Amino acid sequence: PVTAEIISIGDELLYGQILDTNSKWLSEEMDKIGVRVTRKTTVGDDPQAMNRAYEAASREVDIVLMTGGLGPTKDDLTKHVLADFFNASIKLFPEALEDLRNFFESRGKELTPTNQSQANLPSNCTYIKNAVGTAPGMWFEENGVVWMSMPGVPHEMRYLMENAVIPKIKEKFKLPVIYHKLIKTIGIGESWLSDKISVWEEQLPSHIRLAYLPSLGEVKLRLTAFGESLQTLAEEVKEQTIKLEPLISEYIYGYDTDSIASSLGHELIQRKENLAIAESCTGGYLTHVVTSIPGSSNYYNGSIVPYHNDFKEQLLGVNPNTLSTKGAVSEETVIEMSKQVRLKFNATYGLATSGIAGPGGGTTEKPVGLVWIACHDGKNCRTRKLQLTKDRLINIQLTSTASLNLLRE
Ligand code: ATP
Ligand code: MG
Repeated sequence: PVTAEIISIGDELLYGQILDTNSKWLSEEMDKIGVRVTRKTTVGDDPQAMNRAYEAASREVDIVLMTGGLGPTKDDLTKHVLADFFNASIKLFPEALEDLRNFFESRGKELTPTNQSQANLPSNCTYIKNAVGTAPGMWFEENGVVWMSMPGVPHEMRYLMENAVIPKIKEKFKLPVIYHKLIKTIGIGESWLSDKISVWEEQLPSHIRLAYLPSLGEVKLRLTAFGESLQTLAEEVKEQTIKLEPLISEYIYGYDTDSIASSLGHELIQRKENLAIAESCTGGYLTHVVTSIPGSSNYYNGSIVPYHNDFKEQLLGVNPNTLSTKGAVSEETVIEMSKQVRLKFNATYGLATSGIAGPGGGTTEKPVGLVWIACHDGKNCRTRKLQLTKDRLINIQLTSTASLNLLRE
């Protein structure tokens, strides 16, 4: 495969002041077009370190993507190091100067000598216009290796990549056609999932790769196929998906852009059913997840968020006896909550959550992270006890996901 290295330049990255989001984005973009990133390097604003990084990259990859060190204040460090590295001189690029003039003129500002110097570039580079900033992009081709130097400002870097670099890379290299498919699962951990599908995974042809992408409460499986014809790849991936599905059918909730909330919504619409929610420990988050889906008014009736126990009684009609003998975080309480909210909103299903989100407030009997959830359909009530983490926000998110999953089951 065509390979790439990403070199991020800047003292601030090493000090930890700025998170290197550029290299994450660049990695994703390279993956999308079938270029394999084999290394990421971060160096400070230090000529020797930069030189060593260039040396190493020049021996190992086809494409070197560099970001940072191009601002007008940094004394053109990167440009000089690059010029030295390529045995080139620094010269004025009239086209770059013209673009800078126009850039400043259009903003009603005067071109300062400092900014003017941004038109001085290594003589062997191809100047790449940066329409959204003042630091130009520089493209080099030396000994079969392509080099691209871009400013560190994320949106300027993205502009250059999207408008110039990615098209040029596609033109220069013969890249594979790529087809992606996401299979989304819920209610099963990554390692259990991998046990269930290991035999299937082993028979995958080498041009179809599998990735596990876990997030809170969910695991996405991504199939990526490399080849020459999109149609063939789509068919091959479909064939593999059909083999995979029976192994984990009860955990699959959707594909590609589906979310658990959107695919549930879809099902509720099809069955002409609807939903009401009583949430305590999730404090409205579950409702937010449900109502984030366009069209949720077709199946979502409303919520009650009785955070304080008094209001579980007053607003929802939970029996005070249940609250005093079993406590708010109990199976009995969530059963009553789900039953009552369903009736109040005249819904097919009532969902309820109650738990100890943390970080404080736990006891030995009911530790932080203990959550009860319930789903009532008028006849039956399914409940689940969850023992989650010490982290409040994670507990809230995991509870919401688990509640939607309880409804899905
Ligand atoms: P200065 O640091 O003085 O603004 P510079 O020449 O170092 O000028 P760049 O290195 O191009 O300019 O970076 C400009 C800004 O872009 C940085 O201050 C930082 O906020 C951001 N930046 C740089 N590198 C990255 C990166 N890898 N990921 C995310 N943001 C970055
Ligand atoms: Mg910098």
